[in-house]
Amino acid sequence: MTDYIDTYYSRTLEGDMHYPALQDNVSADICVIGAGFAGIATALGLVQRGKSVVLLESRRIGFGASGRNGGFVIAGYGMGEKQLVKKVGRAHAVDLYNLTITARTLIRKRIKDYNIPAHPVGGQLICSWYDTPGHEEEASYLHDVFGENTEYWDKDKVRAHCQTEHYYDGLVMKDNFHMHPLNYAHGQAKAIKQAGGRIYEQSEAVRVEEKASGTKIVHTPQGSVTSEHVVFCGSAYFNGLNKKLSRSCLKVSTYVMVTEPIPQDKLDTAIKSKMCIRDTRYADDYYRILPDNSLLWGGRCGVNRAPSPDQLKDMMLGDLLKVYPQLAGVKARVAWSGLMGYNVYKLPHIGKFSEGIWYCTNFGGHGVCPTTAGGEVIASAIAEGSEDYKLFEPFGFAYTGGVFGPFVAQAVYHSWELMDKLRGIGRRA
Ligand SMILES: Cc1cc2nc3c(=O)[nH]c(=O)nc-3n(C[C@H](O)[C@H](O)[C@H](O)COP(=O)(O)OP(=O)(O)OC[C@H]3O[C@@H](n4cnc5c(N)ncnc54)[C@H](O)[C@@H]3O)c2cc1C
Repeated sequence: MTDYIDTYYSRTLEGDMHYPALQDNVSADICVIGAGFAGIATALGLVQRGKSVVLLESRRIGFGASGRNGGFVIAGYGMGEKQLVKKVGRAHAVDLYNLTITARTLIRKRIKDYNIPAHPVGGQLICSWYDTPGHEEEASYLHDVFGENTEYWDKDKVRAHCQTEHYYDGLVMKDNFHMHPLNYAHGQAKAIKQAGGRIYEQSEAVRVEEKASGTKIVHTPQGSVTSEHVVFCGSAYFNGLNKKLSRSCLKVSTYVMVTEPIPQDKLDTAIKSKMCIRDTRYADDYYRILPDNSLLWGGRCGVNRAPSPDQLKDMMLGDLLKVYPQLAGVKARVAWSGLMGYNVYKLPHIGKFSEGIWYCTNFGGHGVCPTTAGGEVIASAIAEGSEDYKLFEPFGFAYTGGVFGPFVAQAVYHSWELMDKLRGIGRRA
């Protein structure tokens, strides 16, 4: 039986619950394929609206990116806010962004309502890697245009919290937060079950049949689900069941490492903030202090076979010590990789192929909050006829280059690293 890979989250999972494999022919209003955050949010949104739902997962709840990510719950999308305004205009961009603000509030509410041990901690600090102006203006822009609760921090304040010569000024996003994603996935799955939804693990959807009547039949190796609606939420772990989605999903690996717990006096010499933190490089580091005083450190991208856990530990610890050399001696406890499914537009694929065939997937590296937005968009479309999904129409299905796509992505990542270096040379300091 497939279980979770070794991560900090699988080691600290509270209330692990196994769901059976589908071994029967069952019916529901909707069959959701893939139990990452997108599928879970869609299923939960639907059962909350009185629909009968079957959620199929080929491995375990939150097995993919959702149960092994950085745990940053941040509004917005992979595409930056100014780019979004440029692409679709201010009003449309604000409508899209608002979906994620609502989702962020909903995640907090679900944690509370369902008593989920996700351990949320408030605030995100974005530290500038470059001594260049513009961050104060950025804080005002996000507040004025998108209604974000922001605060500008000057260099002294940033360095009081993050004692590294690499950072200059910064920006606090007060309503973003961080949490334990695998516990959150399991807590929501439990809520789906309690509301009457049916969940099947170890149940890969291998074929979708469409009858002339409009009814769909989703086949798994040992059973089937007959439904009026099907929602594809498989992301980078999807198996080619839908060619259009597979062709337009760029699969990119990224890595996370968690240290052994760090004595408080040593940690205080480096990081004094409990907020989740990232820097402003294209190829950024992101990190946060965990409840046991260990440090979660994430970053990098790859497309070839992921390095071994031991290689990842060395790589990521090396990145950490470049920023905080005073933490030398700290040991890496566990490191892992995960796959992200990217739409090249850096906005998710959310919408409808034909009557009853929906998709909510490819959220890239910025998906914890937007997956909940996507789940609500699809659930309200199916249950209430909402047309919010049309907001995503400008971000359609670009070909990602087939087998060469990941190598292009790798080249893009290296070009980001190069641009970061060049920008670094241009620092005013
Ligand atoms: C290491 C890492 C760190 C990240 N950090 C952050 C972060 O801090 N903040 C943030 O916002 N985003 C982060 N992300 C991105 C975020 O995790 C993803 O965007 C988001 O979780 C995607 O959710 P999903 O449900 O679309 O896909 P996934 O979580 O990948 O779920 C897809 C699921 O579908 C299942 N599946 C696929 N095909 C089938 C099938 N045919 N039948 C049944 N089941 C199927 C898979 O087994 C899988 O469980 C990170 C990603 C990674 C990998």
